[in-house]
Amino acid sequence: MPKFIGLIGYPVKHSLSPYFQQAALDYHHLDIRYEAWEISPEKLESAIAKLREAQNLGANVTVPYKEAVLPLLDELDDLANLIGAVNTIVKRDDRLWGFNTDAYGFIEALYKEGHFEPAGKEVVVLGAGGVARAVSFALVQRKVKSLVIVNRTFERAKTLTDGLKSYIRDSSPGSRELETKVTALPWQSLSSGETLEHCHLIVNCTTIGMKYSSQEGQSPLSIELIPQNVLVYDLVYNPWPTPLLQLAKEAGANILGGLAMLVYQGVASFELWTGRKAPIDIMISKAIEAFQEMP
Ligand code: NAP
Repeated sequence: MPKFIGLIGYPVKHSLSPYFQQAALDYHHLDIRYEAWEISPEKLESAIAKLREAQNLGANVTVPYKEAVLPLLDELDDLANLIGAVNTIVKRDDRLWGFNTDAYGFIEALYKEGHFEPAGKEVVVLGAGGVARAVSFALVQRKVKSLVIVNRTFERAKTLTDGLKSYIRDSSPGSRELETKVTALPWQSLSSGETLEHCHLIVNCTTIGMKYSSQEGQSPLSIELIPQNVLVYDLVYNPWPTPLLQLAKEAGANILGGLAMLVYQGVASFELWTGRKAPIDIMISKAIEAFQEMP
């Protein structure tokens, strides 16, 4: 009898994870099926409870449940606890563990595909939702010089920067000169141009520009706001390139899309579920192939 791993989200029908995760499971000849489980909000609790059944090994969690699943789990890994969001659930000794592999995926893609060293750099993050939290903690851990979080709901940006500041205080007491300067700004601050003027990296962690959403075709920034030579990293991976990345290219910036991050977070999740080394090249080529075949 096969075992199962699911992708829990709403909606999930355009996800690429089932393609490249199944390719990795098949590469290792594991009798495990990776399936997309579209779960409406009122069914989330029962879907998590179902993971306790013997045939299920765990799950990925995506929009909009990365924070909502926390109280439904038995144990949280330290990083997931710090970030406050879970994208991977693993069953161990009948207990459901929550992990966050988005932070790893974000950083791996930044180094390997973006060829960007974050230490000492000035960074602006657009958004303060689940993935912005993972990205922000990852950047602080890599010792960026400054981190500005800009969000439509200012309170959410403020909560995130407060959390980052206490993390920095607790993890590097007495070494203030090495600390990241963290600031929250309201969305309207983007219109002045000053917010982005001196930065080296802009990360779009909002949903703006996502295909099949009401924000399809939109960009969080207009072309005149994008500095030349900055790296613009859009975590939205569909369409390619996103409207933001098209504008960034026209503005003379370097660009990085979200597909590599998607695969690298999946690599870490795969290794947590199976204990096997993920076949990264196979996962990347399967993700690209599935993406190209999407309608
Ligand atoms: P989320 O928790 O729902 O957060 C959404 C964010 O977008 C919030 O900051 C929200 O602001 C902002 N936003 C939405 N509409 C906006 C608008 N019209 N104007 C300004 N801001 C707006 O979602 P998430 O889990 O963080 O995911 C965010 C995006 O990252 C999604 O597109 C997701 O697909 C992508 N992602 C990619 C990867 C990858 O591997 N490439 C991994 C994870 C996520 P408010 O707080 O004001 O609502």
